[in-house]
Amino acid sequence: METELLVVGGGPAGYTAAIRGAQRGLDVALVEDGLIGGTCLNHGCIPSKALLSGTGTVHEMETASEMGIYVEPYVDLGEMVAWKDGVVDRLTDGVAALCRQNGVELVDGFARFVDERTVAVDDGREIEFENAVLATGSRPITLPGFGFDADPIWDSRRALAAERAPPRLLVVGAGYIGMELSTIFARLGSDVTVVEMLEEPLPQYESDLTDPVLESVAELGVDINFGEAATNWHEDGRDVVVTTETEDGEESTYSVDEVLVAVGREPVTAGLNLGAAAVETDDRGFVETDEHGRTTAENVFAVGDVAGEPMLAHAGMHEGIVAAETVAGEDPPEARAVPAVVFTAPEIATVGLNPDEARAEGIDPLVGEFPFSASGRAMTTREATGFVRLVAAGDGRVVGGQIVGPEASELIAEIGLAVQEGVTLEAVAETIHTHPTLSEATMEAAEHALGRAIHTANR
Ligand SMILES: Cc1cc2nc3c(=O)[nH]c(=O)nc-3n(C[C@H](O)[C@H](O)[C@H](O)COP(=O)(O)OP(=O)(O)OC[C@H]3O[C@@H](n4cnc5c(N)ncnc54)[C@H](O)[C@@H]3O)c2cc1C
Repeated sequence: METELLVVGGGPAGYTAAIRGAQRGLDVALVEDGLIGGTCLNHGCIPSKALLSGTGTVHEMETASEMGIYVEPYVDLGEMVAWKDGVVDRLTDGVAALCRQNGVELVDGFARFVDERTVAVDDGREIEFENAVLATGSRPITLPGFGFDADPIWDSRRALAAERAPPRLLVVGAGYIGMELSTIFARLGSDVTVVEMLEEPLPQYESDLTDPVLESVAELGVDINFGEAATNWHEDGRDVVVTTETEDGEESTYSVDEVLVAVGREPVTAGLNLGAAAVETDDRGFVETDEHGRTTAENVFAVGDVAGEPMLAHAGMHEGIVAAETVAGEDPPEARAVPAVVFTAPEIATVGLNPDEARAEGIDPLVGEFPFSASGRAMTTREATGFVRLVAAGDGRVVGGQIVGPEASELIAEIGLAVQEGVTLEAVAETIHTHPTLSEATMEAAEHALGRAIHTANR
């Protein structure tokens, strides 16, 4: 078989590259070893958001008496997981159908490079390609001694398929996956303890963004222990006993039922025989690429998690588009900033520069903030914690934004557009936003940066 564009891996980065390549007139084949949709649709973004939404409904019911509504939820986790699987199935079927409709040839199997123009699929077929896009994704990092083959040691995929909430769950790692899954299981009634080697959760975010999340998980009963690294575990009767150690060598033990290890993800390159294609990786195993996704091999591109940070589905989709359009000889779009979201409650969402990053780039930033405690809409939804912050350059162009609060994941899109298009604070402030909405907070933050906020005190 011969193809102009071969895509290896059918996750969000790969299927996007394949579809865009086909849309641009290329003859495209997509090889996928597992399930189309990759980690994101099958074991990541979608299942976790489905369970956050399902358990969010439980939480709303449990606290609805504040609004004079009295209900006691009964949760059948097996049914919730089956509902989540139904959502996943509809989406993965949809992606496969979109690939076919666009003329992408789907090949089932594991691909490995034979040389710079050929891959072998494990069923014995060989595919010759002019250009290839590697989109093989990532997998959870194993902690030494905590192999995922042991029954009580879960990775995120196992956790998202659990049909029973463990009475006691130890989560190792307070990154975004650890925090989202802690929220899910705490809402399902598990007694959740988190151990984190660092002194803070979600280290890429400022503490004013993470503090409201820490408060809310504490309210759910999650106990987070910072500065502790999990070192080993053993079974003691029905208990799983995990030992942790601080930097000073102080040990603690936790007796739990299951352990979720969420300490990061590593690239999937094993078995690909990258050397045969002259594709090089960096010292952490991620495939090295330039701004268009081109690897050290002229005709091989790498996109998504396998090409390193930011390891996010939407970043991978953008990279897939850039690589496919480059192969098609076009001038691909340039992303000025990649938004990132933690889907805890409240959510954290960021895009572009924060005030310190702006200063580090030589900008004397104009900063405006609006608290959700002053938002009528936030109050009506009982989620009035957090704030929207806008960061602008001296000429008023928005260069970033940070949100912690309700629907931050949705609200960040307006700020993303502002950063991408160089929209000014004036333009955001002058745009009439519907009332009462959460999005008014962005307009108010712009007004605040300009020293003329109506619904919050100006400095
Ligand atoms: C629990 C969890 C929650 C997440 N939540 C979010 C979120 O809310 N938002 C967000 O943006 N990101 C989220 N992510 C991250 C997101 O899932 C990844 O960034 C995204 O899936 C990366 O896409 P990808 O296409 O690079 O790789 P993947 O989705 O990992 O897909 C790679 C595909 O390649 C296939 N493959 C690998 N090797 C071969 C081979 N040799 N031959 C053929 N096929 C091969 C694999 O089977 C897989 O299907 C989450 C991740 C997890 C684990």
